Amino acid sequence: MSVTDLSAAERERILAKAALFAPPAATLADGRRELVGLSREELTAEMVAIGEKPFRAKQLWHWIYHQGVTDFSLMSTIAKPMQAKLAEKFVVGRPGVTTEQTSTDGTRKWLFGFRDGQQVETVYIPEEDRGAVCISTQVGCTLSCKFCHTGTQKLVRNLGAAEIVGQFMAARDSYGEWPSPTDGAARHLSNIVVMGMGEPLYNYENVAKAMRIIMDGEGIALSRRRITLSTSGVVPMMDRCGEELGVGLAVSLHAVTNDLRNEIVPLNRKYPIEELLDACRRYPGASNARRITFEYVMLRGVNDSPAEARELVRLLKGIPAKVNLIPFNPWPGSPYKTSTSEAVHAFAEIVNAAGYSSPIRRPRGRDILAACGQLKTESERAKRGAEATASSAVAAE
Ligand code: SF4
Repeated sequence: MSVTDLSAAERERILAKAALFAPPAATLADGRRELVGLSREELTAEMVAIGEKPFRAKQLWHWIYHQGVTDFSLMSTIAKPMQAKLAEKFVVGRPGVTTEQTSTDGTRKWLFGFRDGQQVETVYIPEEDRGAVCISTQVGCTLSCKFCHTGTQKLVRNLGAAEIVGQFMAARDSYGEWPSPTDGAARHLSNIVVMGMGEPLYNYENVAKAMRIIMDGEGIALSRRRITLSTSGVVPMMDRCGEELGVGLAVSLHAVTNDLRNEIVPLNRKYPIEELLDACRRYPGASNARRITFEYVMLRGVNDSPAEARELVRLLKGIPAKVNLIPFNPWPGSPYKTSTSEAVHAFAEIVNAAGYSSPIRRPRGRDILAACGQLKTESERAKRGAEATASSAVAAE
């Protein structure tokens, strides 16, 4: 078998596994169908199935993704009887807001709940004249990266396209950013980083569908240049992501030797550093104008020495790269400490001197539960606490 056959077989295996964790059907208990998350073709097929002309799908697309309208009766270009017919058969939904917290630095974090009661986190990180929404792709995660709080939560299921797009749409609701700002207009929610809970390339089909909806020029219309997908290094899916979606790539690297990376990012045992970096070298569209971001969480005394910075520079040779240095954000029970500021700066200097931009990420949202996955854990703990209190109250009766 050639290498190409092997990675094709591996891709098939990954997609088959993803299907085992498929989201629930997008149909409500009353039989109405969720329209968010359908591709244009699927939306057209739904319209044809109820005896409507295909142009109806174009109209709906505009109202759903450009105007952000969830109520059919507000879709003013659609005649009243038709609005009623649509409302009978369909729904334009949003995830429910279970919790919303806004930090003093402007970072906003939501815990969104879906119809089956599952929850994920979404974060808005404002910059001076724009901001990024960090969205989740799975409930829990299989990968157990050691520095990551979400890695302590087992994988429950993949999110559907509606749930992935829905996080961004609900974030826009929260900032009143509808209709979609047209070219040139300032946007608060200008970028998306697919970097929240879960490994997006283990839920590729749903993520790809969601990204296509988000990038569609007649709807949300966010260009692929404003989207960055972060992977822990699912090598067989990286080429496909680059070819089909052309979004920016971020790689959770965090270590420069296989021994250490095997421990911090256990997926490395399957796809070691050399294979991962080769996949980066051939990532379609990577160039000096569109560099690959390498995420490097700074763990005190673990991966933050000058020697490791020099090794990082050696490894990145030939890759249009930038390095994000992320001071570790500790969570209760985490096995690591944040690197000292001196260590972070010394590391950054070495990487910078070699010609790679290496910004040190400011910790954001320190006053809210900002470590990815923390809000969900806290919410579940509170729920369990409430249930235990309720059942002991029942037992006492
Ligand atoms: S860092 Fe990402 S891939 Fe790793 S455990 Fe956390 S959510 Fe999963």
